Amino acid sequence: MMFGPGAFGGGQTSVQQNAAAGLPYANVPGHLSDLVDDILASEPDHPTPMVEYSPAHYDRRPFGLRTFLRPHAGRLTIATLVVAVEAALLNVGPLLVRVGIDEGIGNRDTSILVRSALFYLGAVALAAIASLARISYTGRLGERLMYELRIRVFSHFQRQSLSFFTSEKAGVLMTRMTSDIEALTQLFQEGLVQFAVQGLTVVAITVFLFSLNSTLALITIGLAAPVTIASGLIFRKISAIGYGRVRNAIADVLSDLSESLAGIRIIAANNRRVQNLVHHRNVIGRHRDANLFATRAQAVFGSFSEAVSVAVQALLLLWGGRMVQRGELTVGELTAFLLFLNRFFAPIQTLIQLFNQYQSGSAAIEKLRHLLQFEPQVVEAPTATVLPPIDGAISFVDVRFGYDDDTEVLHGINLEVEPGEVLSIVGPTGAGKSTVAKLVTRFYDPTDGTISIDGTDLRDVTLHSLRSQLGVVPQEAFLFNGTIRDNVAFGRPDASDEDIWHACVAVGIDDIVEKLPGGLDAPIHERGSSLSAGERQLLALARAFLARPRVLILDEATSNLDLLSETKIERALDAVLEGRSAIIIAHRLATAMRADRIAVIDEGNVLEIGTHEELVALGGQYAEMHETWSSHVDVS
Ligand code: ADP
Repeated sequence: MMFGPGAFGGGQTSVQQNAAAGLPYANVPGHLSDLVDDILASEPDHPTPMVEYSPAHYDRRPFGLRTFLRPHAGRLTIATLVVAVEAALLNVGPLLVRVGIDEGIGNRDTSILVRSALFYLGAVALAAIASLARISYTGRLGERLMYELRIRVFSHFQRQSLSFFTSEKAGVLMTRMTSDIEALTQLFQEGLVQFAVQGLTVVAITVFLFSLNSTLALITIGLAAPVTIASGLIFRKISAIGYGRVRNAIADVLSDLSESLAGIRIIAANNRRVQNLVHHRNVIGRHRDANLFATRAQAVFGSFSEAVSVAVQALLLLWGGRMVQRGELTVGELTAFLLFLNRFFAPIQTLIQLFNQYQSGSAAIEKLRHLLQFEPQVVEAPTATVLPPIDGAISFVDVRFGYDDDTEVLHGINLEVEPGEVLSIVGPTGAGKSTVAKLVTRFYDPTDGTISIDGTDLRDVTLHSLRSQLGVVPQEAFLFNGTIRDNVAFGRPDASDEDIWHACVAVGIDDIVEKLPGGLDAPIHERGSSLSAGERQLLALARAFLARPRVLILDEATSNLDLLSETKIERALDAVLEGRSAIIIAHRLATAMRADRIAVIDEGNVLEIGTHEELVALGGQYAEMHETWSSHVDVS
C-alpha cells in the first residue's frame, strides 16, 4: 500500500492531523478516519484519459456490425471457443445415458453405471467452470464494445455543425445515444457468440443423431427442418418491421419527454398540462403498440416451433418404440435419441430468440448507421492552417447565405470591422442579424462571397484556432451544471481563482457571487434557473472577459432588465469590450448608440452603415428608429 496510514505527516495522516486539531475531515468523526484512509488508499487511480479527437480525420466507413466488430475478431473467437467448450460438455450427457442404460443396466455392470454417472458429474462441473469463464469474458467484451460505440456516436455529435442539431430533434439524438445503443448490449455480450455456438450445436447434434440411427435422424430432420426454416423466414420479415417501429416509437417517447421537461414553465403558464398528458399518452400508446406487435410476432413463432418440436418427439416415441419392439434399436439408443432431440430443438429455440435479439439490434444498427453517415456541413480543409494571433479586422465581401437551398437569407453583405472597433447591427426581427454573427464564428459557411479575419479566409484556418480567438455571448446565456467557478472558467478551464475572481469584479458580479452560499463554489442548477436573467447575462460576460478573445460576438439580451441590471450590464460590456473588436447585435438603441459604427440590416441586406451621428444625419431607417425612440424617452 503506497499511501497507507502513516505515509504522510510524520506518522500521522492529514485526516488524523485534522482530527487531532478538532477539524473534521468531510464530516468524518476522528475514530473513523483510519477507515477513510484505507478506503482512499485502495481507490484506483483515474488518470486523465487521452482523447483522440479531430474534426477532420475519423472513421468514415458506413457503420455496420461487420466493420465495427472486425478489430475484435480475436476476442470474439476466444469467446466463441469458451462457449463451444461449455456446449460440448453439456452435450455429452445423452451419450453417457446411452452407455449407462445399454451397457450398465443391460449388462448389469455396476462399474460402468458408476463411471457413466461420475463422468456425467465431471462434465457438469467442468461446464459450470466454463460457464463462469464465459459469462465474465463475454460480459467484459460486451461492455468494451458498448463503450467504443458510445464514444464513436458522441464524438460524431461533437463533430457536427450547428445545422445538424437544428434539423435533428434532441430527443431523437438522445435515443440513439441511449436506448438504441442499449438494444445492442445483449447482442454484443452474448448474442453473437451464442449465435455461432448454437448453430454449431445444431450441426453437432445432427451428426450425433445420424450416428445413433440414420432412419430416425432422417425422419426428424426431414419433418422438423422445412417447417422451422419456412416459419423462420416469415418471422424474420415480420419482426424486422416490428423492431423498426419500436425504435422509432422510443425516439418519439424520449423527444416528447425532453420537450415536456424543458418547456414545463410554458406548458404550465399556457394551461397545456392536460393536452400535454393526452399527447404523451398517444406517444407512449404508439410505443406500446409497436412493442406488442413485436412480442406477438415472437409469441406466434415461438409457440409454433415449440409445438413442432413436441409433435416430432411424440412421433419418434411411436416410431422408435416400434423399432425397439422389433429389435432394430436398443432402449439406450432410443432414450439417447429422445434426449438429443430435446437438445436439438433447444438450440433452435435459442437461435430464434437470438434472432429476435439480432433483429432488434439490427434495427438499432440501421438507425445508428443513418446517423453516423451525416457529414458535418462545415468542414475543416485538409490544408487548414493555424490562425496566428489576430488583430481583429473582420471583413464580409458579397456574402450570400441560406439555411437551405431554397431560401436565401443574406443577399450579398459587405461589412468591415477595424481592429478594436465595435460595430453594432440593428434591424427588425428576422432581418438576418444573428445569421451574420453565426457566419463569423463559422457555425455555417457562406454559399457565396468570403468572410475573412485579418485578411485570412475563415475556410483556410482550423476551427479550433479560429474559435479560440473569438468570444461568443448569446442572447440567452447558457449555464452548465456545475459551480459559478466552472461556468465562468468555461472557456479557460486552467484559469486561476484569482483570474476568475478578477473577471467577476470586472463585470461587477462579485457582490452577487459573494452573497451566494459557497461564493464561487455555489452550485448552478438547471441552467441557472435560480439566477435572474441579468445575473445570467453578467456571468456570460464574465466568461467572455476571462477568455480574453480578440473578437467578441455579442447578441444582446432582449429580456427586460431592471434599470439597475441594465446599468450593470452596460458597465460590464465596457469592461469586456475594451481593446477588442466586436460585433454586437443590439436590440436597444441605447446599446447601438454606444458602438463606434452602426449597420442597419433589413431583409438580408445592409441598408445603412456609419456612426450614430452620420446615420441620424442621413435621415434613413436608423434616423426614423432614433426619432421613435427619443420621443418615447421624452414622454416617459
Ligand atoms: P435576426 O437575428 O435578425 O432576428 P436571423 O438571422 O435569426 O434574424 O434569421 C434570419 C432569417 O433566417 C429568418 O427568416 C429566420 O426565419 C431564418 N432562420 C434563422 N435560423 C434558421 C435555421 N436554423 N434554419 C432555417 N432558417 C433559419
